[in-house]
Amino acid sequence: MQKRLVLIGGGHAHMVTLANLAAITAKGIAVTVIGPSDHHYYSGMGPGMLSGTYRPEEIRFATRHVVEKQGGTFIRDKAVRIDPQGKIVVLDGGTRVPYDVLSCNAGSQVPRPAIEGSPEDIFTVKPIERLMAAKSRLADHFARHRTQVVIVGGGPSAAEVAGNVWQLARDTGRTMPRITICAGKTFMGRFSQTIRHRILGSLRRRGIVVREGDYVRQVSPGNVVLEHGEALPADFVFLALGVRPSPLFADSGIATGPDGGLRVNVFLQSTQYPDIFGGGDCIYFQKQPLDKVGVYAVRENPILYHNLLARLEGRDLMPFDPGGDYLLIFNLGGRTGVLKKRWLEFGGRPAFIIKDRIDRRFMRKFQAIE
Ligand SMILES: Cc1cc2nc3c(=O)[nH]c(=O)nc-3n(C[C@H](O)[C@H](O)[C@H](O)COP(=O)(O)OP(=O)(O)OC[C@H]3O[C@@H](n4cnc5c(N)ncnc54)[C@H](O)[C@@H]3O)c2cc1C
Repeated sequence: MQKRLVLIGGGHAHMVTLANLAAITAKGIAVTVIGPSDHHYYSGMGPGMLSGTYRPEEIRFATRHVVEKQGGTFIRDKAVRIDPQGKIVVLDGGTRVPYDVLSCNAGSQVPRPAIEGSPEDIFTVKPIERLMAAKSRLADHFARHRTQVVIVGGGPSAAEVAGNVWQLARDTGRTMPRITICAGKTFMGRFSQTIRHRILGSLRRRGIVVREGDYVRQVSPGNVVLEHGEALPADFVFLALGVRPSPLFADSGIATGPDGGLRVNVFLQSTQYPDIFGGGDCIYFQKQPLDKVGVYAVRENPILYHNLLARLEGRDLMPFDPGGDYLLIFNLGGRTGVLKKRWLEFGGRPAFIIKDRIDRRFMRKFQAIE
C-alpha cells in the first residue's frame, strides 16, 4: 500500500521537507500538508512588515502552491487532535487524515488574558496575520487622531513591536502616538544589562515609555489596568506575553514537556509514538530545552527531512545537535537594531542592515521554490 506522510503546519522547520516534496512524492509516498492558511509568514520579519519596511508578499511562502506543484495535497484547515493509536489527524472541519508518519510544525501561540468586550483593536503578536490587520487599522487611526498604543509584555517582541509602531506612525501619521510598554517586573530581564540599556535607550530616545515594576491585571477595549489599579487609556493594545507551544499535543494526550510542547528525543521523534516527529516552537527537546527562536527551527530542517524519509523507508535516524550560541538581532524600527552574538554587541543602523540581509536571503532561498 502507498505510504502516507502528513505534515501539520508549513512552518520554519518544514522548509527543507517542503522544498524536497517532489523527491518524496517521486518515491510513491503520498504527502498531505495541513495548514490554516495558504501562506506561511516569517515572524522574524513580522515587526518590519508592521512598520511598512516589508510588504506582506515579501515575508511569506506560498505553502499551498509549493505543495500542489510538487504532487502533494494541501488541506486548508487546523489540526485539532491527533489519534496516535489509530494514526489519524482530526481537523477542525471534522476531516480525518490518516498517516504512516506524521511531522508536527504547528508553532506557538501568545496566551491571551481574559479580555472584556469586543477585542477588535487588541492584537496578539502571533500569528503574523494579526500584525497585518493591526497595520492597516493603525495607519488609518494615526492619520486622524492622537493615538494611545499600549504593548503588554517585556521581551523582544514587545520591544520590536513598539519600535515598529513608532516607525509606522512617523511614516504615515500626522501626530505621533503615545506608545507605552507595560513590561511587568523588568523589561528584557533575561538579557544582559548592556543589551537591556541599548534597547531601552533606543526606545526612550524616541519618546516610547517603558513601565517596569508592575503587571497588567486586565485588558479591555480602550483600557489596560495595572495590578496597583491605574488604568491606562489604550486605543490599540498589543499582547506580547511570550509564546506557548500549540495545545494540540496536550489535547491529544500525547507526552509533552512542562511547557506543553511535543516531547521529542534527539531524533526529533516523539518519546512515546515513534511515527510522530516535530520541530520548531511546538516541540520540547527533552535532552536540552531550546529557546523559542526561529534559529532552532531552521537548524532542525535537514534532520527532520532525513528522519521522516528514514522512518518511512526503514533506515537509520540522524540525531539533532542544537549547536552553540546563536546570533540575535532585534529590529527596533526606524531601520535600527541591536545585535548580540557571544561577547559581541552593537546597535544602530548596521545591526538592522545585517538582519535585513540575513532575513531577505532566507526568504529568497525558500521563495525560489515557488
Ligand atoms: C514578533 C516576533 C518576532 C520574532 N523575531 C524573531 C527573529 O528575528 N529571529 C528568530 O530566530 N526568531 C524570532 N521569533 C521567534 C520565531 O518567530 C519562532 O521561533 C518561529 O516562528 C518558530 O517557527 P515555527 O515554524 O515553529 O512556528 P510558526 O512560525 O508559528 O509556524 C507554525 C505554522 O503552523 C501553522 N499551524 C499552527 N497551528 C496549526 C494547526 N493546529 N494545524 C495546522 N497548522 C497549524 C501556522 O499557521 C504556521 O504556519 C519572533 C517571534 C515573534 C512573535
